[in-house]
Amino acid sequence: MKYINSPVQEMTFNHHKIFLKRDDLLDVDFSGNKARKFYYYLCNEFPKITRVISHGSAQSNAMYSLSVLCNLRGWKFDYYVDHIASFLKQNPVGNFKAALNNGMNIHEDKIPNVLDEQTLFIPEGGALKEAQYGIEILANEIESWVKEHKFANLKVFLPSGTGTTALYLQKYLSCEVLTCACVGDEAYLQKQFDLLEPRNHPTILPRKKKYHFGKLYKEFYEMYQNLLETTKIEFDLLYDPLGFTILQEYLKTFKNKELPTILYIHQGGILGNSSMVSRYKNKYEKL
Ligand SMILES: *Cc1c(COP(=O)(O)O)cnc(C)c1O
Repeated sequence: MKYINSPVQEMTFNHHKIFLKRDDLLDVDFSGNKARKFYYYLCNEFPKITRVISHGSAQSNAMYSLSVLCNLRGWKFDYYVDHIASFLKQNPVGNFKAALNNGMNIHEDKIPNVLDEQTLFIPEGGALKEAQYGIEILANEIESWVKEHKFANLKVFLPSGTGTTALYLQKYLSCEVLTCACVGDEAYLQKQFDLLEPRNHPTILPRKKKYHFGKLYKEFYEMYQNLLETTKIEFDLLYDPLGFTILQEYLKTFKNKELPTILYIHQGGILGNSSMVSRYKNKYEKL
């Protein structure tokens, strides 16, 4: 990896100064929160393992990162999806294209019932206990940054899918971790936390409106474009627009009170943007 410790920079968001942990810059290929989650499998010895099996969507960031991991480790990669859209089959883009280029074998099928001992199974989205290995390292990087700058009232914010990253960050951080549900609703996210850890959960900030994961929302695209213009940083289109929307609402609740210092985690996922951008352009920029 390019960085042992990903850099932190300042940015202005809605006239607020916030800090941004650039986990998107960890490495050209192996970056973002999937790199943190799968770091355990990069660093440890697995003498028996010759292949990885996983499943999920054909556009997933986890799928792409696993294809990179398997390349680095010389493992075969079998990925199972329910369905691949015909336009994607005919014209692979983004994560799907890159994972195929990395040698991923794609199966439109159910995961095999019996797996041999050469096979490592990784659940969808990398929601697994082993993820804490890499996320603890991320937490330690944040802790030393906080100590160095002597922030008294720091809060870490990151949008959640399975919630694994937020959960293990809270486990290893002394400050409060704030998150919001992007994939399911708040009850789904709470359930995901309960499955992995009995206590010490991150704070789930409420959404004012229901959003469906992967659906196009004009305000999401505007948020993405606005962030790109004002910061020159590209954020992901699935999680970050909702993340910043929720953060914006949260910051408003501090009218007269002292604002906490916010550290937002940029969790990568940019490779998946190409297909999302073309979907948005089709929907909102066509004459
Ligand atoms: C996977 C992913 C998330 C969600 O991570 P969880 O640990 O599943 O909550 C958020 N942002 C990006 C860019 C991701 O790729």
